[in-house]
Formats: sequence, structure tokens, C-alpha cells
Amino acid sequence: MDNLYRCWAEVDLDALRQNLRWIKHIVGKKVKIATVVKADAYGHGLRQIATLLMQSGTDVFGVANLIEAETIRALGKGWNILMLGACLPEEIRKAVKDDIIATVSTAAEADLFATEARRQGKIAKIHVKVDTGMGRLGVPWEKAVDLVKYTLNLNNIEFRGIYTHFSSAEDDPEFTQIQKQRFKYVLNELNKEKISIPMIHASNSAGIIHEPDFHFNMVRPGLIVYGIFPPGKRQIDPMLKKFIKPALSFKCRVSYVKEVSPDTPLSYGKIFVTKKKTKIATLTAGYGDGYLRSGSNLAEVLINGKRCKIVGRITMDQMLADVSHLPNVKPGDEVVMIGVQGNESIDANEVAGWLNTIPWEVFTCITYRVPRIYKGGHAA
Ligand SMILES: *Cc1c(COP(=O)(O)O)cnc(C)c1O
Repeated sequence: MDNLYRCWAEVDLDALRQNLRWIKHIVGKKVKIATVVKADAYGHGLRQIATLLMQSGTDVFGVANLIEAETIRALGKGWNILMLGACLPEEIRKAVKDDIIATVSTAAEADLFATEARRQGKIAKIHVKVDTGMGRLGVPWEKAVDLVKYTLNLNNIEFRGIYTHFSSAEDDPEFTQIQKQRFKYVLNELNKEKISIPMIHASNSAGIIHEPDFHFNMVRPGLIVYGIFPPGKRQIDPMLKKFIKPALSFKCRVSYVKEVSPDTPLSYGKIFVTKKKTKIATLTAGYGDGYLRSGSNLAEVLINGKRCKIVGRITMDQMLADVSHLPNVKPGDEVVMIGVQGNESIDANEVAGWLNTIPWEVFTCITYRVPRIYKGGHAA
């Protein structure tokens, strides 16, 4: 079949399923998985990924807003959906109506949920978030016990769990230790008061890998589900790396090939000037597809199974690669920006290095005009 795509992302659903299975193996059968699917499932496409996760045994979906929650609800009834952010006052009505599990950091928020749930004749389910050092959401850890007790006394509120979030588990074992101690303090105090807590969770991808004694009865993996390890100073056992496979490939094509003489400036701003006779390929992707301009003169892609340097400024829809070392390159050839070609591969961590960002952002930058093509699994 003709390939009519100029720039596209391929998502390997089998890789995703395998990654999820591997995470389950690491954390053990008794630990539930709250798969994080915010930001269109890290750019992989929420509908398809959520469908696959429903088939492959996730327990909870972690989302960042109620639209994402609604998309999941439309795919399958009855799934547990945890809203990871704080609900805005205007969102509380919908969150209660749609049975979304809310994250609560203050007594005032808990009151609003209780009032709304009473109005709707429902019970609002909440997890109390504890700030142990991330500084984004959550009740300060010293006050967490009071907040839990407060929510337990509210009518129409079901206290379903407690959680915290690491700020630097991939980099800083000492600070992570402090966060762990603060969270343990809260759990101990609740235990002393004989308060039972259905769900306890703390670990993102980095926590799952680096803090294996801190899985409690649920974990919240994002990045590793999509097959990428969180980059950081802490070493990751190479054995672990063998079982995780990137699910997303990001591809475009060669549209034009030419030879240019020495001293030829290329692309906007003339930041690249050839030193010698050079073969240049024009490629059908740019920052309008999410391949960030910060990779200008820096990034590499795979063409004909070989690494090629991006030269000159990346433009909105096109960019240029030095293909002097490729004898047979021609228009139509496939270009791999993320993925495997021949014996070479480029993953989102490497691209993040060139684009001066992190793999999470590499994925979420891939824009709406890039079609997501699904392979394997049960593509819906
Ligand atoms: C995004 C997010 C996660 C997942 O993080 P990864 O590093 O991608 O695994 C987990 N928990 C919360 C609260 C988040 O916001």
C-alpha cells in the first residue's frame, strides 16, 4: 500500500502490553497499577492506549483533567479514574457526577466535594494528597493526619486512599529518603489512630525502579509504560532495561536530495554553512510536527540505516540532513527521528538531549497533525 504520510508516529501496542506486564512483575501481584495516561497518553493517543490498557489489566487510570476522564469513560464503564490534579471549583460538579476519584489537599476542597455529593445524592471518592517535598499539591505532611481525620468525619465522602509524589527519585536518593520518611511518619500516625487506608501509593516510574521498598499497594507508572526509563543520575540495572521496549516511533521521509558546493549557507538565518561539497536531503518534518527547533544543527536522524546530522535551522514543516555518506538516498526514503532502522536506533532520551528537554516533553510535543498509526495488539 502507498505510504501517503509525510510525518507520522507508529505505536507498537504489543510493546506497551509487554511493558505493563513487566511492571506488574516488578511490583508483584498484590500491587495495583494506576497507569498514567495524561496528555493524550504521553502523546501516544489516549483512546487507543486506554483501550489496550483495559484489555491488558490496568487497575486505575491516572488523568490530568476531566476531558481525559470522559474519554476513558466513553470507552468502558466502571473503570477507576484518579484525577491527579486538583479539581477547580467549577469542575467539582462534573467530577462527582462522573464518579471520578478526586485528589484532595485541603479541608475546604473536601467540604466542596461533600456539599456537591450531598446535592447529587452521591458519595464522592477521594484520595488525600500529601506534600512530602514536591511542593506542587498536597497537604503539608505535618498536617496530613488532621486532614484525613477531617475527611473521615464528612458525610457523602469516601476516603479511598492517600498518596505522595517524588520530586527527584531518578536523581537524588537523599532527598527521596527524606520524602519517604515524611510519608512513613504520616502512615505511622494514622496507624496509631487505627485509621485504615484502602490505597497507599507514592511511586512514579523513577520510584518504581529506584525505591522498590516503597510500592505499597499501588504504583503510578507513566514513562516506563511507554517504554522509556526516566533519565537521571541514579544507575538503572541493565537487566531491567532488557525488558522494556519503546512503543513509539516517529518518522518522516526524504522529499528532495541535492549536492551543494562548499560555502553554501543552508536554511533560515544561515546558521549552517557547508565546508565542503555536501549532499543534503530535505526531510518532511519540522517543529510544526513537534520536532523542536532547538535541535537545529544538533539532532540526528536515521536514513538508509545510518545516522545523519540535521544541519541548519529546523523549520515548521521541513528540515535538512547531511547525507553525504549515503550513496543511494532518494526522495520517498523513510527517515527515523525516534525508533529503529537497520542496526541503528534513537530513543526519546537521546532526542531529548539534542532538543534540550526531557523524554516526557519529546512525546507531548508531537503535534495533532502527526497521525498515530497502531501496530500489534487489538488496534481499535
Ligand atoms: C505524571 C505523574 C506520574 C507519572 O510519572 P512518570 O514519571 O511518567 O512515571 C505519577 N504520578 C503523578 C502524580 C503524576 O503527575
